[in-house]
Amino acid sequence: MNKYPVTRMRKYSLAIHGGAGTIRKAAMTPAMEKEYLQALSAALAEGYQLLEKGMTAREAVIAAVKSMEDCILFNAGRGSVFTHEGRHEMDAAIMDGKSLRAGAIAGVQFIKNPIELAQAVMDHSEHVMLSGEGALQFARMHNISIEEDAYFYYDVRYKQLLSAQSSGDIILDHHIAEDKKFGTVGAVACDRNGNLAAATSTGGMTNKRFNRIGDSPLIGSGTYANNKTCAISCTGHGERFIEAVAAYDVSCLMEYKGLSLDEAMKFVVQEKLVAMNGEGGMIGVDPAGNCSMQFNSEGMYRGMKDSEGNAETLIYQ
Ligand code: ASP
Repeated sequence: MNKYPVTRMRKYSLAIHGGAGTIRKAAMTPAMEKEYLQALSAALAEGYQLLEKGMTAREAVIAAVKSMEDCILFNAGRGSVFTHEGRHEMDAAIMDGKSLRAGAIAGVQFIKNPIELAQAVMDHSEHVMLSGEGALQFARMHNISIEEDAYFYYDVRYKQLLSAQSSGDIILDHHIAEDKKFGTVGAVACDRNGNLAAATSTGGMTNKRFNRIGDSPLIGSGTYANNKTCAISCTGHGERFIEAVAAYDVSCLMEYKGLSLDEAMKFVVQEKLVAMNGEGGMIGVDPAGNCSMQFNSEGMYRGMKDSEGNAETLIYQ
C-alpha cells in the first residue's frame, strides 16, 4: 500500500466574458482583434494566478473583473457607455456560491471599480443592493476609489451617444458602429475547494434614461452562484435576461431537473432566450470545475482557463 495518502487534485477554473453582440469578423481589423484578445488574456491571467495560489473563487472573479473595468475597451468601469444625459451610471454584482451571500450596486457614478463596491456591500452592509447617491456615500465610507468624470471620458463612446441620440435609440453597446463593439464584463470561477463565485460589471446601454437598470446587478438574472449547481455571469439585452431570470434558471435546471451545466446553459441561451428575443450569452462553471460559454449573438468576447491545461480566448462563433 502507498505510504502516503493520494490526494487527487480538484480541477479549478476561471471563465470570463467581455460582452456579446453583433461582433462581425469582417468589421474587425487584425489589430483590434489582437487588442481584445490581449485584454481578455490579461484578465484571465489576473484571476487565474490567484486560483493557482490557492485563493478563493471570489478573489479570482474580482481580480479578473477589475482588470476589465480598468481597460477602456470594455463597457464597465473606465470604459462605461454614456447615459442620455451624458453621465456614466454603472451596475455591478458579486455572489459567493458557498455562503450564498451577494452584493450589488446600481446606477452609481464615479466609482473606479464598481465590482469592489459590490463586494463591500456584500461584506460590510446588511443589504444586498445599493443604488445611486446612497451607494456613492457608502463607497466614500469604505474608502472605495472614486474618479472624476474625465477618467470615464472616451471619444468613441461619446460619438456612440451622439449617434444614438440622433436616432432616438437606446442601444446595446455592441450594436453600435460596425467596427466598435465593447461590452459588459463578467467572470465565474471554481477554486481548489470547489467553491464557486460569479461577478458582473457594466455601464449598461448607451443613451439609457430614467435610471434604467439592466440585468447585470440583479441576482438571479445577470449574476448567480451556488456551490450546489453553478456560477453564471450574463451579457446581452438586459430587459429580456431579467424577464427570463436567466442565471437562476440555469441553476434550477441543474438542481431540479438534473441537467449538466452545458445542457442547462444551452437550453436557456439557445431556446428560452431566443424565443423571448433575448440576444446575448453567458459564461458558467460547475463545482467540478467544468466551464461553459454560450451565446446566441454573432460573437461574445470570452475566455477560459483550467488546471487541466485547457485555455482559450475567443470572439466569434
Ligand atoms: N446586460 C447589460 C445590460 O443590459 C448589457 C450588456 O451585457 O452589454 O445592462
